[in-house]
Parts: sequence; structure tokens; C-alpha cells
Amino acid sequence: SGSTVKDVAEYLGVPVPDVIKQLMSMGVLATLTKTLADEQIEIVAEALGKKMTIVHLGDEAEEEFEYDDADEDLVERPPVVTIMGHVDHGKTSLLDAVRSTEVAAGEAGGITQHIGAYQVHHNGKTITFLDTPGHQAFTAMRARGARVTDIAVIVVAADDGARPQTDEAIDHAHAADVPIVVAVNKIDKEGADPTRVRTELTQRGLQPSEWGGETEYVDVSAKTHQNLEELLDTLLVVAELEELEANPNAEASGVVIESKLDPGRGPVVTVLIQRGTMRIGDALVAGAEPGRVRAMIDYRGERVQQAVPGDPVEVLGFDGVPDAGEVVRVVANDREARRLAQERETREKAESLARRAGRKVSFEDVFRRSREDEPAELDLVIKGDVAGSVEALEDEVARLPQDEVHVNVLHSGVGGINESDVMLAAASEAVILGFNVRPVGDAQALADREGVEIRHYSVIYAALDDLRAAMQGLLAPEL
Ligand code: GDP
Repeated sequence: SGSTVKDVAEYLGVPVPDVIKQLMSMGVLATLTKTLADEQIEIVAEALGKKMTIVHLGDEAEEEFEYDDADEDLVERPPVVTIMGHVDHGKTSLLDAVRSTEVAAGEAGGITQHIGAYQVHHNGKTITFLDTPGHQAFTAMRARGARVTDIAVIVVAADDGARPQTDEAIDHAHAADVPIVVAVNKIDKEGADPTRVRTELTQRGLQPSEWGGETEYVDVSAKTHQNLEELLDTLLVVAELEELEANPNAEASGVVIESKLDPGRGPVVTVLIQRGTMRIGDALVAGAEPGRVRAMIDYRGERVQQAVPGDPVEVLGFDGVPDAGEVVRVVANDREARRLAQERETREKAESLARRAGRKVSFEDVFRRSREDEPAELDLVIKGDVAGSVEALEDEVARLPQDEVHVNVLHSGVGGINESDVMLAAASEAVILGFNVRPVGDAQALADREGVEIRHYSVIYAALDDLRAAMQGLLAPEL
């Protein structure tokens, strides 16, 4: 379901018959409710003297994150850490335990504020933790185009071992190309078997460094607080290898990590600063919302005058409430902020039109992209009803000739297609193959909204035929 002739006419501000006539001259027989492809919309717009480029969310995000800072302007910045893992393995407990080390160290003077992220200080360095655990939140941000997390801590309960959401979390971290530290939690419990966890995760490609691999493991207890210092040590070591740097002497920019409308204070927006220094009085814009920094409050609940890269701060002074994942930028003045916000609003309308007109990525795109010189990539998420068929399909996919199109399986698993699969596909521009399974919960609605293609199959060879056809550019769109 995409944009219709009627939508396009409305958006361009031209009479419907003009659009239909133009389409006819292109050899397209159209009615009011006919759905148009991106290219058709662009051609019609141009023919009618209206310039319209369909902007994809991903393109824009890439643009916004490119800054050219000279090496000498860069200084070390704190790593930003997200905690992920299977439900009940202790993500929330671990976040609380780590936070309490800060209170115990007398650094924070009693933390009361939950603003969406907090910091701990350890060995003279700072680490920023995002307060919303789980890979869904992580990937949702990524789907918005925000690259926030530097290190993923994957929590695995030592008395339970690797579970389905452990696998999801690993795949989501890999898809984002974020390094993983494994926290083997609940080692205080009877029946805890940290070695078994290592064996299980080695089978999933996370070989412990103590076994000659590349992944750091730390045995912890969120309950007794055992080894929390070691966990922080390890995070700092990994951060050091990542060489995380930012330019603090620039106009500030960052990402919205939480936002709400407070009855008393108005829009309250937690921003993670990624570059530059944000100060009171700065004019800024986040998505289609302009504002001016009236006050900043840190994770200790204290008012601050400025915020530097790695700092999460609540910002008061936005005109409206921007979504989590939006890029925040300080600009020269209020007028510029309002202009950019307005521009964004216009672009958003075009984007929503484009989203309805077509999927962000589909099988058909693969060939188109492969002709444009760059080696085409087709990323897949595969879900099936039984492990046997999922594995069989994966094996066959690996055997397809990959000289013109690289096919990568980002994640595979047994069970219905869930929202986490859809967000992963949206964030990575992947296509989902369902093998005798259907979307569950709100997954289908989410896929429609995010422009993710889900293709359903009941036999392996049909999926392979389509893949081969897509790789040769011969595929008919699935209706
Ligand atoms: P989440 O769903 O991953 O956020 O898990 P929670 O943090 O809510 O923890 C799930 C349950 O495990 C809770 O009852 C916690 O008290 C318990 N738990 C978490 N960490 C530990 C631990 O290190 N040791 C023990 N014994 N229990 C823990």
C-alpha cells in the first residue's frame, strides 16, 4: 500500500487530472486510487514543474553524522554502554547495581533522577550507561538513524545459560557493529555454571579471551555486587581499543534518548551529547522541534551550565517533544532553528509519502543497487517454524553464488516474526523471510510503518528461487 494518485496531487498542490494525464503520457493508466512507485512520483513531480526528491531516512541520518574534525581537536570521550540480554537474566538489576557503586563512592550524592542515562566514574574515567535495557530499544534508535551505543553488555544468567533473546541481542549488536562484553550474572546462585555459559556462547561466535578468543567475559552478581569493579575495568579496556573521541570545541550535537511532556516543565528532553559543548541559551533543533536551552539537569538531578560529549542531560526549552533517536543540533540563532525545524517538517511530509509509496528496501532494489557499481548487499532476517528448515535455508543461502550480490543473514531463529525482528530489519535495511511463520503481535503494523518487506514461504526451494531471481534482477514484486 503506497501513495495514490490522489495523495500525490494533494502533496504537489496540483489538480488530480493533471497527474493522471502526466501518467498517461508515460504510458501508465491511472485511477484516483492507483498506487505509485517512488520513481513514478518523482518523474510526475518533475514533469509538472515541482521538484520533489524522495528522501530516505537513512540517507539523511548519514549526512548528519558526518563531521570533519581535525585530529588535534579530538579528545577522549566516555564510552556509551547499553545492557542487553534475555528477560530475567538481570539487566535492570545490573544497571541498578552499577549505579549504586557511584553512590557508594560518594560521587553522586544520592542519585534520584532517572533521565534515561547515567554516568559512573571509575579509575579516573567516566562511563555512560543507557538506562533502558534491551536490544529493542537499542535497535529502535538505530532504525531512526542514531548511532548511540559504543559497547553492548550482554547479560547471561549463569544458572540459565544462553536463551533466545540472548541470541537476538548478539545478532543485534553484530548488525550494529558494536563490540560485546559478556556479563555472566547471578554467579552467587546455586547451580551457577559460568563455564557452561562460555561454552554456549563460544558456539555462537563469542570465544572468551581467556580461551584465546576475542570476547571479554566478566562473572558478576548484581545481587551481591561481586566483580562490578572488574566489569567497569573491562568496559574501560574495550573503550580504549575503540579509541572513542569527540571534538568538544564545536557547536553541540547529540541524540534524543528520552522525551516527555511534563505538565509543569513543558517538554523535557534527555539529550546525549556526542560532539561539542552545549550551554544555557543555545538555540537548537531536534527533528521538527526548535528550542532554546533554558536549563540543563544532569543524572544527579543537579542543574548544570554546560554538557560535553558523553554527557546525558535533560534539556528544558524545546517548543515541542521530539522523538527518541532524533538528532539534536545547536545552531546559530532562533531563526535558524525555526527554519531548520520547518524544513524538516516539509521533508517529513515527503518522507511519509515516500514510505507509503514504497518500501525502504526490497528484493527488487537489490538488482537496481547492484548496477550502480557498488557491490550490492542483501541482508536477511530468517524466521521459521522449526530449527531444521531455518538451518537448511541458511546453508543454501550461504551456497548461492555471491560474486555480484553479497547475501548476509543478520539473524535467524525459530518462532513467529516479532517486533524485534522488524526493527532489526528496519535498522539494517534487511528483508525478512518467514518460513511457515507469520508476524506476531504488532510486527506486521510495524513493518508497514517502517517499510520493511516480509516475504512468506512454505518450501525452501521457492525462497531460493526468489533469492536467485532477485540477485539477477528478474524478480516480480510480491503482492
Ligand atoms: P531483567 O528482566 O533482565 O531486567 O532482570 P531483572 O534485573 O529484573 O532480574 C530478574 C530477577 O533476577 C529478579 O528477581 C532479580 O532480583 C534476580 N537477579 C538479578 N540479578 C541477580 C543476581 O546476580 N543474583 C541473584 N541471586 N538474583 C538476581
